[in-house]
Amino acid sequence: MALSIKQHMLFHVMLVTGALCLLLTPSVAELPRFKHPAKPQQSLRLLVVGDWGRKGTNNQSLVANQMGIVGEKLNIDFVISTGDNFYEDGLKGVDDPAFFESFVDIYTAPSLQKTWYSVLGNHDYRGDVEAQLSPVLKQKDSRWLCLRSFVLDGEIVEFFFVDTTPFVNEYFVDPGEHTYDWEGVLPRMSYLSELLKDVDSALAQSKAKWKMVVGHHTINSAGHHGNTEELKQILVPILKAHNVDAYINGHDHCLEHIIDKNSGIHFLTSGGGSKAWSSDVRPWSLEELKLYYDGQGFMSMQITESNADIKFYDVSGKTLHTWSISKDRNVPAWI
Ligand SMILES: [Zn+2]
Repeated sequence: MALSIKQHMLFHVMLVTGALCLLLTPSVAELPRFKHPAKPQQSLRLLVVGDWGRKGTNNQSLVANQMGIVGEKLNIDFVISTGDNFYEDGLKGVDDPAFFESFVDIYTAPSLQKTWYSVLGNHDYRGDVEAQLSPVLKQKDSRWLCLRSFVLDGEIVEFFFVDTTPFVNEYFVDPGEHTYDWEGVLPRMSYLSELLKDVDSALAQSKAKWKMVVGHHTINSAGHHGNTEELKQILVPILKAHNVDAYINGHDHCLEHIIDKNSGIHFLTSGGGSKAWSSDVRPWSLEELKLYYDGQGFMSMQITESNADIKFYDVSGKTLHTWSISKDRNVPAWI
């Protein structure tokens, strides 16, 4: 069943109303928080990978190998996973061998033995979501940390991890042959309203120099899935209101850097952890599109008070694109 125009409008009205309500009512809940500052006298260094868990196939192992090499060179603090952690249908339970076959036994390099801060993707929602969130997995591999939504405080930067799958209308009204595990998400509108309120509140309270939001789904993307309209309508106004510097996602199996010319927000897609979609690209303004790479790979970030340096790598470790986002570009030198 395709979504009618009327349903689309109703959905937007409900969400916009919810978003307005959240701005008018005080927040009661708080997102779970974790602290992971940089090593003394160093920048905060991390890798970002998404859309990866395929038991080593589709070049997952090759990407993992290069992540190990780059991770060692940068002496990274942690890894961010942008979701779709286990294909095709998430984990079946806490004892699903896929946890070892797609994660523990793949990312074996010493430099990758750091915390993996992870969100869920739509494919993860096709399995047992509670299993993927369960602390039992942390007992099996202490690196694993996956929650629906949370805040990671790196002192100079705060990362706000947002559970984006429940925003996408299609999974509810036109799921096709797929079954989604919505336990913990229903009723959907109050879940989304609370989540938006919590994200808004966490961003408002943040005193970090850099604010970056992490979610699985695209917001702006020239890739296969393209833009996620629900997030553009509902989440982007919150990102703009709080001067978020970057939105980091997976979902499209590519590496991509878009700078939105209106807001200045950097949209960074790192969804090349395994299977990629060759030549699957839509037209996009070259003024905004700084990188589109249709193969496998990953991204690194090095963050200081003044700069966030991003770098994208392909499956052989070759650098595809570098960019330095400066905080000080409009600040007079004497301040
Ligand atoms: Zn996805």
